[in-house]
Amino acid sequence: MRVDGADHEAICLRCGRCCREKAWFEGEHYVLPVYCLHFDPVSRLCTCYDDRLHRSDVECLEISEAINRQALPADCPYVKKIRGYKAAREDWEGNSTLVSMLARGEIP
Ligand code: SF4
Ligand code: SF4
Repeated sequence: MRVDGADHEAICLRCGRCCREKAWFEGEHYVLPVYCLHFDPVSRLCTCYDDRLHRSDVECLEISEAINRQALPADCPYVKKIRGYKAAREDWEGNSTLVSMLARGEIP
């Protein structure tokens, strides 16, 4: 996810995890091992950044909305200093239900 402003750009690690599909499951967000179709794995940037929030083929969140929805991983610089922030989980492999849903192509 790119964000507006040079300062914001500077702190993003370009890890790309906020551009992975998420599963909202049992009250928590899980980051899944499936990238958004608009994520370029080489540049690690969005290929449709300017209109990403208006597209019908993806639900993309502004950084503030991603923070509010607890959709960012714990070590993301945008949230790691927020006290009490409940980060998106990355341990989807330990959840057998999610693993089964992924295997069936049923990403909620
Ligand atoms: S999870 Fe955070 S650090 Fe990683 S790409 Fe997204 S905004 Fe940048
Ligand atoms: S449209 Fe996809 S690749 Fe682009 S910022 Fe949003 S989630 Fe990331």
